[in-house]
Amino acid sequence: MQTSKRIASLCLALLLAVAFLAPCFAESKVTPIIMVTGMNAVPLVKDQGTDQETVVWAPPAEAITSKIPQLIWPTISVMFTRNWDKFMDAVLPLVNEVFEPVRYTELGKTLYDVTTDTMSGSYAENHSSSFLNEAGRDLGQYLADKVGADNMYLFIYDWRQDLYQVAQELNTFVEQVKADHHCDKVDFVSVSMGSVVTNCYLAQFGCDSLENVTLVSPAFTGLSLLGDVFCGRVCFKEAAVYRILAQVMAGHDTAKEEKINKLFGILLKTRLMAPLFRFGDTMVEATKDRVFAETFVESFGRMPGILELIPAAKYQEAKQFLYHGEENAITKLTDRYFEQVGSHVEEIYKGIQEKGVNFAIISCYGRQSAPVYENSDNQSDGIIDSCNTSGFATFAKHGATLGSDYKQAVDCGHNHLSGDGIVDVSTAMFPECTWIIKHFEHFNYEYEGNSCALVYWLTTRTEQATVFDNPEFPQFMDYSYQTHMLTPLK
Ligand SMILES: [Zn+2]
Repeated sequence: MQTSKRIASLCLALLLAVAFLAPCFAESKVTPIIMVTGMNAVPLVKDQGTDQETVVWAPPAEAITSKIPQLIWPTISVMFTRNWDKFMDAVLPLVNEVFEPVRYTELGKTLYDVTTDTMSGSYAENHSSSFLNEAGRDLGQYLADKVGADNMYLFIYDWRQDLYQVAQELNTFVEQVKADHHCDKVDFVSVSMGSVVTNCYLAQFGCDSLENVTLVSPAFTGLSLLGDVFCGRVCFKEAAVYRILAQVMAGHDTAKEEKINKLFGILLKTRLMAPLFRFGDTMVEATKDRVFAETFVESFGRMPGILELIPAAKYQEAKQFLYHGEENAITKLTDRYFEQVGSHVEEIYKGIQEKGVNFAIISCYGRQSAPVYENSDNQSDGIIDSCNTSGFATFAKHGATLGSDYKQAVDCGHNHLSGDGIVDVSTAMFPECTWIIKHFEHFNYEYEGNSCALVYWLTTRTEQATVFDNPEFPQFMDYSYQTHMLTPLK
């Protein structure tokens, strides 16, 4: 009798202990997520906290539209006179006015008192409305709803800065989040430029504090667009211009876009508009040197954060083009990035996988990017070329396929060719954990549907996911802005 009473009270004590401890176990299971945001996720603000506080980037619409009347006469006049120097005398000061508030000095530091308006923090501290971009708000809010507002963080930074230094701010932030949660791991969702900050973080601080890293439309291997532009290879391609127009006219209706593209295809064949594009070429040739020398080099060319988005393979050429081989305070910073980080991207992420960090990449295609550079017929997500965001998967050019006799470049025993004949992921750095979405824009997550669910699934793994694990999210998916659904690509 005594023994059975003793056993019963022991059982009761155990039960109570488990009941009290269970919430602690449950709570410690949630790993905080830090979204390392992309470029200009929140505005750049001048004279923060004073009466003169103003948003300076993205430039307010009137900062640009107010210049239009002053451009009309120089534009009409240059069509007749072809006096491009006179035209540039009128235009360049106006362009410089737009850049003035975000200008950097020759030392790679901000000229004015400009900073981001919102500090990094958790959704519990009301960061839900921080994003300029609705898609950022949707994805952030979705993740906050899933893991809890106090477990979902935004890391925000001034994108003009040397990203190697930004990564030091990120490290301080990670350590603070870990201390606040009494945990030793966090997850990263690194969006666009945020992936380059993540490259720098991993190179300097390793991956001991990380459980999952998901790169969303990452700039981690640079942007072909910037590689071309910073090497002076600027041009307007007629077909690319039409694809942009079709995209704008069709909204997000892909069937309509295909029809409009067919009509533009006919226009392209007639060569009717060729004289206009020849005029464009003449304009670029006649104005390029002054645009670079008097505007571009002194604005974007002085921002280490922007220069660090050049693909590593193009960096030396771009440096030569921008600075004519001259070393300066800015190239000192960017040299460090490319030597220690930019030319080791594949090793960095292979390294973290070997140490047990779960890693995933989401890359998108089927959109046209700005039609101003030599490789603008590359597949893109509208901002970054898909070859870059996928870590060098092979994509057919816009409007083309890889061809009916194309064979998968690397035979790993799986299929990594897309059903539409446009993509071969076998050449990518991480073919088993790179998800590819057709028709999805750079950063356009919608709360409805399942696009945010993909990011959530990839970022809360307890073991490495592969593209063969989840029938809802296979390697190749198609997105519809009508149904808000990702579906397997046919
Ligand atoms: Zn494979």
